[in-house]
Amino acid sequence: MEKLDIKGIGMTSQRTRNRLIDRIEHLGIKNEDVLRVMRLIPRHLFMDAALSSRSYENTALPIGHGQTISQPYIVARMTELLLEGHSDNDNRLENVLEVGTGSGYQAAVLGGLVKQLHTVERILPLYRNSRDLLYDIGYRNIHVHHADGTWGWQKKAPYDAVMVTAAPDEIPDSLIEQLKIGGRMIIPVGENNGKQILQLVIRTSENEHTVENHESVLFVPFLQQDS
Ligand code: SAH
Repeated sequence: MEKLDIKGIGMTSQRTRNRLIDRIEHLGIKNEDVLRVMRLIPRHLFMDAALSSRSYENTALPIGHGQTISQPYIVARMTELLLEGHSDNDNRLENVLEVGTGSGYQAAVLGGLVKQLHTVERILPLYRNSRDLLYDIGYRNIHVHHADGTWGWQKKAPYDAVMVTAAPDEIPDSLIEQLKIGGRMIIPVGENNGKQILQLVIRTSENEHTVENHESVLFVPFLQQDS
């Protein structure tokens, strides 16, 4: 494949990227590790070249197949909520799952902060692109799987944390079951095209969990296979 323009120039330069991360910090993101990792990731590589001049705007953008790369502030916020207290070097989470790889950008952010990341994508071309791109950038702790994520990724369960980047109508029990006791899940929940809310789920025991509501968000629908 052609050489990756990791460094970027002009609209994709480190200076432009720093401006975006400063903006995100200004919007209230406090976790220094999340900000540090996001300063390093070339977001322009995770989208179509035709859109790369917009890659350091704080907006969601189309990635084809009716899907989007998430808004950078929301990526930072979800990561911060999920990893609370676990992103520094000695205290990294061991085993984390993302459902909805999409462009692979959120996976790259998580990959810089946790030991092992499994990420599942159901659309074949998006899966292939993200798998190859993350490998070419140099990630060796991100494992991309082509599968329907309705039941998570059972082979590597249980997880310390699960992040879902598409919105189901309600929290799927199957995903709570893949969390360790004490494990956390961040998930946008709400009706298709209606109001969605970011929820933080903590599995407190074998049969119990708590749910905390955070900001309202707009994600593409989580497609669920009938069980
Ligand atoms: N985290 C992504 C966001 C992509 S949009 C990023 O940073 O770019 C959400 C993605 O979830 C889409 O690619 C969509 O195909 C995928 N998705 C939706 N339902 C899914 C399911 N049940 N299993 C796996 N992937 C799913």
